[in-house]
Amino acid sequence: MKTNRRNFVKTAGIASLSVALSNKTFAKVPTLKSGKMKLTFKPYKLQLKHTFTVAGFSRNTTPVVLTEIEFEGIIGYGEASMPPYLGESQKSVISFLEKVDLAQFRDPFRLDEIMEYIDSIDTENRAAKASVDIALHDLIGKIANQPLYKLWGLTPENTPMTSFTIGIDTAEVVKLKTKEASRFKVLKVKLGGGNDKEMINTIRSITDVPLYVDVNQGWKDKNHALEMIHWLSERGIEFVEQPLPKNQVDDMAWLTENSPLPTIADEAFQRLSDVAKFKDVYSGINIKLMKSTGLREAHKMITVARALDMKVMIGCMTETSCAVSAASQLSPLVDWADLDGSLLISNDVFKGMEVIKGKVTLNNLPGIGIEKI
Ligand code: MG
Repeated sequence: MKTNRRNFVKTAGIASLSVALSNKTFAKVPTLKSGKMKLTFKPYKLQLKHTFTVAGFSRNTTPVVLTEIEFEGIIGYGEASMPPYLGESQKSVISFLEKVDLAQFRDPFRLDEIMEYIDSIDTENRAAKASVDIALHDLIGKIANQPLYKLWGLTPENTPMTSFTIGIDTAEVVKLKTKEASRFKVLKVKLGGGNDKEMINTIRSITDVPLYVDVNQGWKDKNHALEMIHWLSERGIEFVEQPLPKNQVDDMAWLTENSPLPTIADEAFQRLSDVAKFKDVYSGINIKLMKSTGLREAHKMITVARALDMKVMIGCMTETSCAVSAASQLSPLVDWADLDGSLLISNDVFKGMEVIKGKVTLNNLPGIGIEKI
């Protein structure tokens, strides 16, 4: 009898709960007012805090183009960054963006449709395309009033540490930069400038933090590369990025097979269609929004790389906090992050993702998580 009564109470409780749920009314998603999207853009020059030297060249500035897409009073921000080796310039980005007609679309959430159109305008112009993609993602996040990582269902605590980059330089400057970077839990070291062992020994005289190595295609011979990777593997290095020139595909496959450290493709690799063909050539890929045409394709690239059991790194160019914060929204999905681009410049125009105790730290702002300074 007692049991029956308890069952009755329980059943009644469930019944009243389901009545309560069925009575709960959800507000309808407000209909967009069929406004028009308006794209605007302007060139901007990033000033680097230090001369940046990688295998191949040095520079003190990076040209970018800042974009805005306005829709029903809400503005999404985007950015194209053009380090010289990618072949885009402010001129080429602006001439691409002048061809873009977003007024034909009524709903910014139709990212598939809009980005397919953007991609069809030209075969190249990846940074220009990314500047539209990032602004659209910022816009839809703001309309939904949620950060993108939440809309994607990601766990913000899973963000990785970010590395801070030490460019090729004299031992004296490398020492200074390493000391300045003491708040980072991992450093990325540029090699391939002819003083590789000196660079690593200098850094190791100051810190024991894990190191990523980026050769930027600087080693030309596979046997020398393998010898160097063995030497590096005894000095706390996690992986080696783009050790050989991008066109030495067979040498690279041999190197990956024999390497004691994972190898990561950067210059060799641009978009989604490249992922599968590098499966047995590199251990993983370095995704950058300026190569992938933005967040939409970068997200797909991560999924494909995971299905192929490849490692994933997310990187950046020298960029403002706009493009860096956009990339950081995807970072809970990756193994390694190199998202220091905005920290290398002295004239950022946004405040966004922060590096706290070396870790990529996402905020609660909607969209890509930035505010204008
Ligand atoms: Mg690289």
